[in-house]
Amino acid sequence: MLDRTAKDWQALAGQLEIEGRAFINGRYTDALSGATRPTVNPANGKAIAEVALCGIEDADLAVQGARAAFDSGAWSRMAPMDRKMVLVRWAELIEKHADELALLETLDVGKPISDTVNVDVPSAVRTIRWSGEAIDKVYDEIPPTPPDTLALVQRLPLGVVTAIVPWNFPLSTTAWKLAPSLATGNSVVLKPASNTPLSALFIARLAAEAGLPDGVLQVLPGPGGSLGKHLATHMDIDGMTFTGSTPVGMKLMQYSGQSNLKRTFLELGGKSPNIVFADADLEKAATMAAVAVFYNGGQTCTAGTRLIVEEKIMDRFLEMVTAKAQGWMPGDPLDPATAMGPMIDAGQCDTVAEYVDIGRGEGAEMLFGGQRVLQETGGHYFQPSIFAGVNNAMRIAQEEIFGPVLSVIGFKTADEAVRIANDSIYGLAGAVWSNNINTAHKVAEAVRVGTMGINNYFGGDITVPFGGFKQSGNGRDKSIHAFHDYTELKTTWIEFA
Ligand code: NAP
Repeated sequence: MLDRTAKDWQALAGQLEIEGRAFINGRYTDALSGATRPTVNPANGKAIAEVALCGIEDADLAVQGARAAFDSGAWSRMAPMDRKMVLVRWAELIEKHADELALLETLDVGKPISDTVNVDVPSAVRTIRWSGEAIDKVYDEIPPTPPDTLALVQRLPLGVVTAIVPWNFPLSTTAWKLAPSLATGNSVVLKPASNTPLSALFIARLAAEAGLPDGVLQVLPGPGGSLGKHLATHMDIDGMTFTGSTPVGMKLMQYSGQSNLKRTFLELGGKSPNIVFADADLEKAATMAAVAVFYNGGQTCTAGTRLIVEEKIMDRFLEMVTAKAQGWMPGDPLDPATAMGPMIDAGQCDTVAEYVDIGRGEGAEMLFGGQRVLQETGGHYFQPSIFAGVNNAMRIAQEEIFGPVLSVIGFKTADEAVRIANDSIYGLAGAVWSNNINTAHKVAEAVRVGTMGINNYFGGDITVPFGGFKQSGNGRDKSIHAFHDYTELKTTWIEFA
């Protein structure tokens, strides 16, 4: 796959059949209003396809279909081992279409093709296969009740769930939501981000082909502010799972409270600390400090955007990280050699440029990058950028920029490093680098985040839960723990005569 050149991928792109219609009750369908909106390739600003612009009436139709499917029991009461087979078949079909899907994701998101081929598509396949394979191996409980009684504690599906997802990892986030919610027997109404609806629409057809009954998975592209809000306040939706920004997550909690208290699980923003001690393997730490912030153009919730470095190695380590940043200059996402693509859109690129100005204004030193580039392509590219001399109180250390901008902060003691790391409204992820197991473990334990790496960044796989502390959210994607977000606990108490 990756022996293809940019030209090969370009040629394949010309042959792609792109589906932009909504997927409701087992088939593709236009929005009832007939409205569409183009989805744009961030690498060149050109429209890729027209996509259905669904509204409130489409949402009601989809929720009705999802409810009918749930009540029919065709999926919700299917034996877990049969649900497993459908999900495993679905994963296999996605794998079979891996190249098309990777290409579609690259065109829609601007992600480098090497990432979509090696990371996004395999991650979606693994997530769906793993959740399918796990679901018939999870047991309910019989608690230690008194003699002549028997209690059953069962996990039952919530019912109809809405999943609202962002544009930065559209396919893998969609899989993180769909795999456990479907495995546990729910019907799901998915709203992809307006910028990136194509991969979700593509895999919906494959789910039907794998045997998912009609209505169990509905995919509705459309605007968050109207369609998303309608789903979030819908009285016939029982659960809501969201990945996106903290401000929108806060609204969703309110929508839940203002409607029917639907169970609401949020995966939100971050400003993750990456702490480097002088005794670490500095070469590896420097390589991964660049990966942590520049991967996916910094448009990653877990991006290691605050590099917290022991002062005695500061100058040397800054030189090393700056050298690594040279390897992250943005380029054509269809070129397999490209490590970083464009920002998702002009607005995101403007935000990054504004934060670069803010950082300069706050007195931080721009050590590398700081410019838009490749503007002649029509795409929205920004250089990998490094600010030194950052104080953790600065806005560039506190606010999520969601771009390739690193803020480097110094520390003298382990306690100070922990204090800086925890001085954030967020608590999503982080890492510590040290060859002293005591230092590494104590610091890792003290940093208040959902995922912490020791001598790695972005570590983890489908077997471990993923989610945030503090304003980074309250749900958990991945692993058996994800099943909990999509189920209610039910007790049946039996007394024998
Ligand atoms: P966003 O603006 O919060 O949008 C996320 C989704 O919510 C989109 O589908 C959006 O629709 C929809 N939406 C917007 N306003 C809504 C409303 N009032 N009611 C219901 N839905 C609404 O986030 P984004 O810019 O797409 O993604 C970037 C953010 O996601 C970052 O903050 C990042 O940290 C976070 N993120 C977190 C994780 C995690 O696991 N913790 C993972 C990835 C990303 P439209 O597209 O139509 O606006």
